[in-house]
Amino acid sequence: MSETPINTQLLIAGQWQDAADGRTLPILDPASGELIGKVAHASVADLDKTVAGAAVGYDAWRNLSAWDRYAIMRKAADLLRERADAIGRIMSREQGKPLAQAVIEINAAAGVIEYFGEEGRRLNDELVPARVPDVEQRVLHRPIGVVAAFTPWNFPINQIARKLGAALGAGCGVIVKAPEDTPASPAELIRCFCDAGIPAGAVSLVYGTPAEISEYLIAHPVVRKISFTGSTPVGKHLAALAGGQMKPVTMELGGHGPVIVCRDADLDQAAERVAAAKFRNAGQVCIAPTRFLLHKDIAAAFIEKFKAQMSALKIGRGLDAGVTMGPVINERRVKALTELVDDARAKGAELWQPDTALPNKGFFFPPTLVLKPTLEMRVMQEEPFGPIAIMDEFSELADAIKEANRLPYGLAAYVYTGCERTERLLGEKLEAGMVAINHHGIGVPEVPFGGVKDSGYGTEGGPAALRAHTIIKLVSSLHRPSAY
Ligand code: NAD
Repeated sequence: MSETPINTQLLIAGQWQDAADGRTLPILDPASGELIGKVAHASVADLDKTVAGAAVGYDAWRNLSAWDRYAIMRKAADLLRERADAIGRIMSREQGKPLAQAVIEINAAAGVIEYFGEEGRRLNDELVPARVPDVEQRVLHRPIGVVAAFTPWNFPINQIARKLGAALGAGCGVIVKAPEDTPASPAELIRCFCDAGIPAGAVSLVYGTPAEISEYLIAHPVVRKISFTGSTPVGKHLAALAGGQMKPVTMELGGHGPVIVCRDADLDQAAERVAAAKFRNAGQVCIAPTRFLLHKDIAAAFIEKFKAQMSALKIGRGLDAGVTMGPVINERRVKALTELVDDARAKGAELWQPDTALPNKGFFFPPTLVLKPTLEMRVMQEEPFGPIAIMDEFSELADAIKEANRLPYGLAAYVYTGCERTERLLGEKLEAGMVAINHHGIGVPEVPFGGVKDSGYGTEGGPAALRAHTIIKLVSSLHRPSAY
């Protein structure tokens, strides 16, 4: 089926428009490598207009009642759900993920927006009892201002929904710098807010050269908070820029998810669930399971079951029926993954790939098992961010914990066990922002979502995510003594 070419514009002060100088960037279909459209590339003149519009839009948004803000967010979530199939096709086309996964992501994003809209109605102020009569101490939670949100291509809509939801729910304005690789589905998300009646400029959308836009926005006095999802090196760079401006940040960065499979785990369940989590979105997931630490007594059996899951993957174009794993996002990622696997092979790893033919064009990378890993291998240090699973054995649980905590990353960690005592022990001992035991359902909006150590700071879920977009202000009044 021939599809309409993509032509994604900027949203500045509530108006969809091309870049002032007409510049665009190409968009490729990762399943074919072919050109499928273009996206506007913002210049400094566009950014000047964006920030001016955002200041006006923020003012209008924060002056609405929390109830009215909720109603608009709720409507945007409803529109997103109504349009999920159509937007899912756009996302699958530009990002490569299977259509079913795209639609799940979009519906999940609608849930995130709805949650934060509701949570915004509960952003209560507090009264603190005073030490002396007639003093009233009010603690106010107010929006921090305009937020600059930088989001990646792996979940083009849900990564924005988390940032947008928390910021808008708290009454902030938002300038989204969305991913240039996958620009069209984010634009459709933002269109839902426009159609739901959000004031012009409360949300803006730009694309361009990431380093230019981040330097501009982080330094701009109208922007009061920075939120980024992406790689650890870029996150550290942006956090340093924000630190220089005394602006708070939320950083959701990379991971190298350990998975501890204990001797008493249900192996069928573990293999099925971890494989689904590993190969979802072709492994391009910050919380993907990556380093498997298998108890030596069950390692061989688990690996066989996991291989069966890998062999059952149907690899192809995300829009084709039955496909369960698509391509990776671009040629650069194919090269990066190839280098990691070549390095492991050269250093003595055993590699295994299912006997599945890959499409002969596009940016496909085969699901790959790395067995007998050693610490010298790059893949044991660096986030693969692709369909690579590394499997090693342990005898003592203490050694598995040590290995799980070895890296500077600390995003998600997984455990499979039948023992409640082990659950509690590992829940405490694993150095990760999120520990999931016997399942992978950690992405729901009402619970914290974020990492520790080099995986970042701050959370993108639960009430704390909303609070991170507020300032706390004390208003202490000495009232005139009452007449009573
Ligand atoms: P990259 O480090 O070049 O870019 C990662 C993201 O940061 C992209 O969205 C990019 O547009 C943005 N970015 C890069 N430089 C920037 C700057 N100076 N200012 C603002 N934004 C900037 O990597 P990539 O090749 O696009 O992706 C590969 C790596 O990124 C992966 O290895 C993975 O670690 C990381 N990544 C993480 C997530 C996540 O969910 N945490 C998502 C996507 C990518």
